[in-house]
Amino acid sequence: VIFWVYPALVFNYSLIGTRVAVWLNITLCLSVWYLAGSWAEWPLWPRIVVTMAATGFFSHIFSSNIDRQKQALVTLATIDPLTGVHNRHELQLELMKACSQQTRLGTPVTLLVLDIDFFKKINDTYGHIKGDEVLVEIAKLMGKRLRTADRLYRYGGEEFLVLAGGTDADGGRILAEDLRTTIQNSRPCELPGITISLGVAQYAPPESVSEWLHRADEALYRAKANGRNRVELASSGSG
Ligand code: GH3
Ligand code: MG
Ligand code: MG
Repeated sequence: VIFWVYPALVFNYSLIGTRVAVWLNITLCLSVWYLAGSWAEWPLWPRIVVTMAATGFFSHIFSSNIDRQKQALVTLATIDPLTGVHNRHELQLELMKACSQQTRLGTPVTLLVLDIDFFKKINDTYGHIKGDEVLVEIAKLMGKRLRTADRLYRYGGEEFLVLAGGTDADGGRILAEDLRTTIQNSRPCELPGITISLGVAQYAPPESVSEWLHRADEALYRAKANGRNRVELASSGSG
């Protein structure tokens, strides 16, 4: 029966995950050590224990490598490489989760869509590389301002989206104003006159995710039309 311990050592890693498997396998090896001492003769039992420990060790290395690669893939798929914030990958799912949370629990959730003003001019004047640096800096500035319940996404080229959990439209507007003044006052990359415009929309059941996004977009469009460097609140839902 002792030979079944070998596949078990490998199997544990695939079944229960690296962290628990380590401890289970160490326990397994120690028990075999203890039992084999009375069961097998001298040259045999240390060999059994050593080969088991080796099997466990290499399974561990193998399993940790897979874990690391998996983590690297998740990061590649969900994080924007330029700014380090979330990309659109999980956005749809997160928006749907937020909707159902507000519908079921009444927890308000508000969306901020923001777009850098005249960004094309920044690119044209200072070059695309500088433009990229501005994007990184703005993402960093916003990240600092947000709370843990808020999630920041890079929505498009120079558009970002904040999903503010537990925040209603009024709170969203305050947050948006705060972000707007932060960007205006902090002169990203030492460049003058960089500003953002924002559209704010609280989720209004029973609208769909795309209707919600559309209302936020519409508010952003209004902020642009009304002169930029400003915040506009979306019209209330289903209207
Ligand atoms: P406004 O939003 O105020 O109406 O004007 P805008 O000039 O910002 O508007 P528009 O959306 O037309 O231009 C966005 C520009 O952003 C176009 C594109 O060249 C630039 N852009 C998009 N993605 C990137 C990027 O990753 N890096 C850089 N440097 N520029 C980008
Ligand atoms: Mg844009
Ligand atoms: Mg823009």
